[in-house]
Amino acid sequence: MIKHHLHSEILLSYAAGNSSPSESLIVASHITSCSKCRRDVETFEKLGGKLLEISNSVEVDSSSLDNIMSRINNDDYSIDSSDVLGTSDIFKNIPVVLQKYLPDGDSLTENWKKGIGGIKYFDIDLGQSNKNTRARMLSIPPGKKLPNHGHEAQELTLVIHGGFSDENGSYDAGDVAIEDENNSHTPISDPKEGCVCLVVYEGKLKFKGLFGPILNFLKI
Ligand SMILES: [Zn+2]
Repeated sequence: MIKHHLHSEILLSYAAGNSSPSESLIVASHITSCSKCRRDVETFEKLGGKLLEISNSVEVDSSSLDNIMSRINNDDYSIDSSDVLGTSDIFKNIPVVLQKYLPDGDSLTENWKKGIGGIKYFDIDLGQSNKNTRARMLSIPPGKKLPNHGHEAQELTLVIHGGFSDENGSYDAGDVAIEDENNSHTPISDPKEGCVCLVVYEGKLKFKGLFGPILNFLKI
């Protein structure tokens, strides 16, 4: 069961088509397995469409918004998948929208780059000109503690397989962790399965720990 969801502001921005490519990727990936956030996006999209209809109509009365909201609330959402992501098969857990950005290979991380401490990563090419808006896949070995780090801007992490925990709680497959410039955290990957996740961030990570300057230099 997914416990950690995306904020309404992020979903509204996505529904309105205002998200950056990397943020769009993590929203699209999350809502393939999260019926709650998917319903919210659908509601925002319908609301946006209805508001457009109103703005184009000459027959608007004061009850229009009430009518729209009641129609939206009465709509029957036919959601066919559950909130639960299986953990037995990493490939199955990767949303289709995300798969197309990853390299082919017999093993998921076969063609990923090797970082320090057994961490593997793959930077997703979204064709963006702004290098400070990035999307990266991470594969972290079991029981790995990452250095405490802060953020210059928003960082969103979607767990694909395994999980991690930090000062804010535990995150399993499908969960999204939201960090911003106001906090820092020390994630530890799941002791048995490690963690495969999609991370999108705007701005550089700032490591604060003892090895911070080295990690910042290595851009891990
Ligand atoms: Zn959600």
